[in-house]
Amino acid sequence: MIGNYDFDVVVIGGGPGGYVAAIKAAQCGKRTAVIEKGSFGGTCLNVGCIPTKALVKTVSVFDTIKRSQEFGIEGIDTSAVRVSMEKLQARKQKIVKQLVGGVGALLKGNKVAVLKGAASFVDSHTVKTGDKTITSEYFIIATGSEAFMPGFIKYEGDTKIITSTEALDLAVVPESMNIIGGGVIGIEFAYIFAHLGCKVTVLELMDHILPMVDTDVSDLARKTLEKAGVVFETGARVKAVRDLSVIYEKDGREQSLAATLTLMAVGRVPYTKGLNVEGIGIELNKTAIKTGPDMRTNISNIFAIGDVNGVSMLAHTASHEGLVAVANILGESQTMSYDAVPACIYMEPEIASIGLTEQQAREKYGDVKVGRFPMSANGKSLIEGEKSGMMKVILDANLGEILGVHLFAVHATDMIAEIAVAMKLEATAEEVIHAIHPHPTVSEAVGEAFMAAYDKAIHAL
Ligand SMILES: Cc1cc2nc3c(=O)[nH]c(=O)nc-3n(C[C@H](O)[C@H](O)[C@H](O)COP(=O)(O)OP(=O)(O)OC[C@H]3O[C@@H](n4cnc5c(N)ncnc54)[C@H](O)[C@@H]3O)c2cc1C
Repeated sequence: MIGNYDFDVVVIGGGPGGYVAAIKAAQCGKRTAVIEKGSFGGTCLNVGCIPTKALVKTVSVFDTIKRSQEFGIEGIDTSAVRVSMEKLQARKQKIVKQLVGGVGALLKGNKVAVLKGAASFVDSHTVKTGDKTITSEYFIIATGSEAFMPGFIKYEGDTKIITSTEALDLAVVPESMNIIGGGVIGIEFAYIFAHLGCKVTVLELMDHILPMVDTDVSDLARKTLEKAGVVFETGARVKAVRDLSVIYEKDGREQSLAATLTLMAVGRVPYTKGLNVEGIGIELNKTAIKTGPDMRTNISNIFAIGDVNGVSMLAHTASHEGLVAVANILGESQTMSYDAVPACIYMEPEIASIGLTEQQAREKYGDVKVGRFPMSANGKSLIEGEKSGMMKVILDANLGEILGVHLFAVHATDMIAEIAVAMKLEATAEEVIHAIHPHPTVSEAVGEAFMAAYDKAIHAL
């Protein structure tokens, strides 16, 4: 039947994985369609990356205005400054709408056929959407994920549990909020709501928050959030949510904490509802679609990218996996590497991390070199009004290969891209040190942290 399909490539799901894959396939001359049951941009644009960062920005502006006197600004009655939740929501929606519209325009401009509705596999070359049947030589599944509601927690009574999706839409700042989970999503919302005047408690099972970040950095971030009023209950095993109270075990004792709302932020699970993947024999790894490094499933003409394969639930990974899948459809032999995927946490200062933590690096390589640089010694950071923060680099002890970098600094989420490029090019510490960093910038501290690994930072004793 080769050549008789409706399309060469059909992408299911129009999030950052799916729409990027569809555009790339169309740019490469493939007759491409994307099927989307909701809004283009998926979780990321509609209820994830973009709306959270819109909230973070308002909170950061609000905080800066309250600190205006530190910058020599007079005449602002900071006690009267407040955030209008209505206007904050309107601004967020405007940004989301613009970006979602932009994705639609890009798809159209690249001649990607757009099909609205939920797709379900009939066989490995056919899907149904409503009463339409669509055939394709290749499929790329990019159906994303949904919030995880753990089964080991008992839910009793009127729990008032929300997920990140509802948290983004709150019209009123709740008096108090229990956040279950101290990962990226939990911490970003802790930052947002604590600064909006809500009494926030984060309950985390592990001893440290933000497990992917080196503990030197995550402990410092915790202190910064504590200064903003966030209370942390680490080592807390949540057993139940009973009405407004979270019941948890800590230090062998059962405890209970009531709040206006409970935000469940313990992670996300791949979403394949209604897709009939198991029906056509696609192998799963628990709930995730199993893929090889070429993003192919066990059925050779079907690929799975983004959150649905459960490997690295980040928008930029989803997009990159989309490019790798398309390259393989085109007959190039490309594989996905996850060694240098940056992870970012948006608060002030920002957190960005790539590669291994010091503990992981020591477990894997034994001897490593570690460099730290305090942001209090960086001119631009002080100009920005930020004295706290640090940069930490972990290097191979012999060759100076970069194993991991963890930043807690103003603009950290932009600066980590430099390290992603360096790691991709297999640059050594020496080469990063000799890449000239402009002055005055926060990025100078990156070079200093690398120098510190050899006890040779210039601006620190
Ligand atoms: C609150 C929050 C904040 C986040 N912040 C960040 C961040 O700052 N940076 C970052 O990198 N990541 C962030 N993420 C994660 C990021 O949103 C996801 O990793 C990313 O959206 C995954 O992209 P995707 O294309 O795999 O799936 P999604 O974006 O989830 O898109 C999947 C799409 O598939 C559609 N779909 C599902 N089933 C079907 C079907 N059967 N037929 C047709 N369409 C279907 C859905 O409607 C959806 O539009 C955040 C997530 C959340 C929840």
